[in-house]
Amino acid sequence: MRRQRKQKRPVFRGRQARRRIRYDRVLIAAFILALSVFLIWKIGSFALDRFPQVAESSVEVQQPSMLGGFTVVPMAKKEPVRFKGKVQKVAYLTFDDGPSKYTNDILDVLKNNKVQGTFFLVGTEIHKHPDAVKRMVEEGSYPGMHTMTHEYKTLYKSGSSANFIKEVKQEQKIIQDLTGYKPFLVRAPFGSAPQIDEKFRGDIAKAQFKLWDWTTDSMDWDLPGNPKQVIANVKRDVHKDVEVILFHEKEQTLEALPEIIKHLKKKGYKIEVYNPENHLVMNFKNDLRL
Ligand SMILES: [Zn+2]
Repeated sequence: MRRQRKQKRPVFRGRQARRRIRYDRVLIAAFILALSVFLIWKIGSFALDRFPQVAESSVEVQQPSMLGGFTVVPMAKKEPVRFKGKVQKVAYLTFDDGPSKYTNDILDVLKNNKVQGTFFLVGTEIHKHPDAVKRMVEEGSYPGMHTMTHEYKTLYKSGSSANFIKEVKQEQKIIQDLTGYKPFLVRAPFGSAPQIDEKFRGDIAKAQFKLWDWTTDSMDWDLPGNPKQVIANVKRDVHKDVEVILFHEKEQTLEALPEIIKHLKKKGYKIEVYNPENHLVMNFKNDLRL
């Protein structure tokens, strides 16, 4: 049968034969191309499997511009906000007014739970706890700025942004000189509203800084000796897809922290640290410049 069929094949001559050969070459080239694409894809997914963080973003990711009322601005790196069709809830633990005698203990709790925090440091305190600030950066937590003085009068009374920006730049340099890391995220003492108006916000943006407020206030600063109430406040208020939780470096916060982390994880939150490469707009006025 085979032999017969072979015999029946037409014999190509001259131009017809050359066309046939060209056609074969095109087929071979197409096959090699398809094989290469397949191999690259295979090698790529193998590499992604080895780095689970990246693997998550290889899953069909829908990146909504608004998430839980806040805007995600994707920059260099994509963060999975949806995983397998479900919204990945994210919580950020933020700690103001440090560094302090509690910073190392807070870092211990974070480390034990394999999470990181976003810290907003007071510039004049940094030289008192330099090792804690260095450790913070080494362990992947974020050393944000919270001005040098933290003084309402100095920062806001004139209505001008000059002192605020001067202090933030000064603090940025202190953190960079100490840790080698140059942060751009600021939390305004007392929050951005009402003391910071539209022009003031524009000045902060022009100076290249980003500004974060919060979505949930633990009220920890007002609850000395009462970690149970700090836990209760967070449990009561946390419900959005993205939560930025405000804490301070206080003893009651340190005591409440393990239970709060446990609760957030149980509620399906992924605890993240601020990522400048995937900036999240998080200010009371939803000012997209910040
Ligand atoms: Zn503060």
